[in-house]
Amino acid sequence: MFTISQVNKELPVSELTGQERVVLFNRRDVLLSTANGVNSLPLADDVRGLLPADGMLMAVGTIDGAICCGTSAQLEDVDIPAGLSVKPTRIAFAESGPDIMNAVSRVREMSTWRRQHRLCGGCGTPMSFSDTDLALVCPQCGERYYPQIAPAVIVAITRNGRKELLLAHNKRFTDRTFGLIAGFVETGETVEQAVRREIMEETGIAVKNIRYLSSQPWPFPNSLMLAFEAEWESGEAKPDGTELVEIGWFTRETLPTIPAPGSIAHKVITQFFNL
Ligand SMILES: [Zn+2]
Repeated sequence: MFTISQVNKELPVSELTGQERVVLFNRRDVLLSTANGVNSLPLADDVRGLLPADGMLMAVGTIDGAICCGTSAQLEDVDIPAGLSVKPTRIAFAESGPDIMNAVSRVREMSTWRRQHRLCGGCGTPMSFSDTDLALVCPQCGERYYPQIAPAVIVAITRNGRKELLLAHNKRFTDRTFGLIAGFVETGETVEQAVRREIMEETGIAVKNIRYLSSQPWPFPNSLMLAFEAEWESGEAKPDGTELVEIGWFTRETLPTIPAPGSIAHKVITQFFNL
């Protein structure tokens, strides 16, 4: 089980014991151990050849008692050791349980945050980790930086006594998948306002009875997805044409291809229809 660490620490590669569980990612890919057909995080001993000897790994917690740490690494054009394979992170999420998802998400987000805050934005001094909380502190002027989280709403819009669900095809989807309406919360906005605004902007309808369902960190690049259910109130659903190109009300019987397991959209839709 993955447990988040409250201690901020970077581990030098030279100090690894070999028994740490390591997340190595490269842009949209992640390296997993796939022995026996089951995904797990590789041991440090198994990936030592892929780590820069003078590099640092971000320690983010423990997984079944072992330290869990990681960093970005070159995974293309290198020899990947037997028993390990490089997978698109979304595929890895679809195949794996929440422990791997949470560990990979946290390593990706914290490594990126650390890399982007080497120096203080106020005075240019190298930043240090805070001793007390999850922050980087400037030893010169005291400026603090916390990991950035971008909250986003994702909404199951229902109609006709919860028999129908509004699903949309986004032009970014590479196949015929239909998903839920989603968008980022803007500065100064409540999440309920974001739900109403995003739905109006993307579909032209008004909703009522907004109800929170659940949440999921989503490291593409640093979102926290907040899932809601809302009821159709008025208006005819039309795709905005820029993000959404097709939209429709679907029942359990007419359900199209939905987002892959591992995404909160998949969870919300399958739970809604008791699939
Ligand atoms: Zn400073």
